[in-house]
Amino acid sequence: MLKNRDTLEAWDRDHFFHPSTHLAQFARGDAPQRVIEGGEGVYITDREGETSLDAFAGLYCVNVGYGRTEIADAIAEQAKKLAYYHAYVGHGSEASIELARKIVERAPEGLNHVYFGLSGSDANETNIKLIWYYNNILGRPEKKKIISRWRGYHGSGVMTGSLTGLKLFHDAFDLPRAPILHTEAPYYFRRPDPAMSEAAFSDWCAAKLEELILEEGPDTVAAFIGEPVLGTGGIVPPPEGYWAKIQAVLDKYDILLVADEVVTGFGRLGSMFGSDHYGMKPDLITIAKGLTSAYAPLSGSIVGDKMWAVLEKGTDEMGPIGHGWTYSAHPLCAAAGVANLELIDSLKLVDNARETGAYFNKAMADALSDHPLVGEVRGEGLLAAVELVEDKTERRLFDASRKVGPQVAASMLERGVIARAMPQGDIIGFAPPLCLTREEADIIVDTAKSAVDAVAAGL
Ligand code: PMP
Repeated sequence: MLKNRDTLEAWDRDHFFHPSTHLAQFARGDAPQRVIEGGEGVYITDREGETSLDAFAGLYCVNVGYGRTEIADAIAEQAKKLAYYHAYVGHGSEASIELARKIVERAPEGLNHVYFGLSGSDANETNIKLIWYYNNILGRPEKKKIISRWRGYHGSGVMTGSLTGLKLFHDAFDLPRAPILHTEAPYYFRRPDPAMSEAAFSDWCAAKLEELILEEGPDTVAAFIGEPVLGTGGIVPPPEGYWAKIQAVLDKYDILLVADEVVTGFGRLGSMFGSDHYGMKPDLITIAKGLTSAYAPLSGSIVGDKMWAVLEKGTDEMGPIGHGWTYSAHPLCAAAGVANLELIDSLKLVDNARETGAYFNKAMADALSDHPLVGEVRGEGLLAAVELVEDKTERRLFDASRKVGPQVAASMLERGVIARAMPQGDIIGFAPPLCLTREEADIIVDTAKSAVDAVAAGL
C-alpha cells in the first residue's frame, strides 16, 4: 500500500519513533527525513530518486554491498521451506547448524561454539551473563566486574549501554550501572603528553588498566571488553603493541577478554577477524553486522574452549542454561548468514578490504593530512576517519556547538556521498561496503576533500 509522498512523510513524522534522532526537530520537520527505497552495490536510492554512494555501508554492516540476490533468494527459499522453529532444548534448522560450523571454521583457534542472538547489543548481554555464570560455577561469586574503555561502543541496552563509554548513551539514562567500570581509550591522537611515543602510550594504557584492577581488587574483576579498533567512539586503530600489553595484564590477573568484533568481524580490517589481525586471544567474540551483511538481523557470541568447559560443567550441576531468546538462530537469518559468508569468500572481499582499504586510506591521507582543518587521518582496512581540529599544531578541538563534523558530513551528502559524523568529537567516519572499487574510493576521497575545503572556507 504505497501512499503518496506527503502522506507517507506525515505518517513518518507523526508515528515513527526513530532511534538516535532529535525527536522534536523531526516532528517539526526541521531534521533530515529520507525514505530509502533501493540499493545496488555501494549506492542507495531514495523516494525522490536521489542516489548516494554509501561510504558507511548503512551502519558499517552492508559489507557485501546492496542488491545481492543470492542472499535474498536464500532467505526466500528458507521462508518457503521453514520460516521458523525455535532452537531451545536441542532444536535447530539446517541453516543455523551450517552457519555455526562456517563461523567456527573462520574464527580464531580455540573458539568452537556459537550462541546466536539478533543484535550486537543482545550478544554482549549474553556475554555478560556467560561471564557471571562462569565465575559462579568456578566458585568465585565476587569476580564479576567488567572493564570497558571510555569511547568503546558495545550496545544500547541497560548493561551494554553501561559498557559503552560515550556520554550520549549514559547521561540521560542513569548509566553506567555497576558492576561496569571504564579505563582509558587507546586514542593516541589525544594522548596525555604529546611527547609520548606510540609504544610508550600503549604502556601507559596498560598501566592504567592494571592500576584500576589493583584498586578494585583482582578477585573482583571478571573481564575486559574492547573492540579491536574503536568504532563508534571515533574509528581509532590501536597504538603499536597495545593488545599484547593489555593481554599480558589480563593474563596476570586471570581476567577474561571479550573481543567485540561487531564491526571488525568478517573482513572489515582486511583479515577475517580483528582478533587475528592484532594477535588478540579472546575468550569470547561478539559478532553481528557483517555476519549477514544486515540482510537479516543476526548476532552471535563465539565461546572459547576454556569457558565452554565450565559452561558444560555448570549445566551438569544446575540443569539447562537459563538464557534464551525466541528468535535465537532464526532460520531466515541463518540462511542469510550462510549465503553471505559464501559471497564473502567467492568475491574475495577480505582480500579486497585489505588491498582497496590500503589504497583508500593512503588516498585519504594524501588528500587531507596536510589540510589546516585536519588533525589526523587514520584507519585500517576499510575503516577510516578524518578528525577535524581548530588548531593543527596544538591539536585543539572545535567547540562541539559549532558542529564542524556534522557540517562536513552534510556537505559530503550534498555532493552525493554518505559519510558519518561520529557521535563524539568532530570526526568523519568511513566504512564502505567491502566490495568497494578503487574508482569508488577515489570518489569518496575527492568528495571528502571538497567538503572539508568548503566548510573551512565558511568558518
Ligand atoms: N558492538 C559494537 C562494536 C558496535 O559497533 C555495535 C553497533 N554499532 C554494537 C555492539 C551494538 O550492535 P546493535 O546496534 O546491533 O545492538
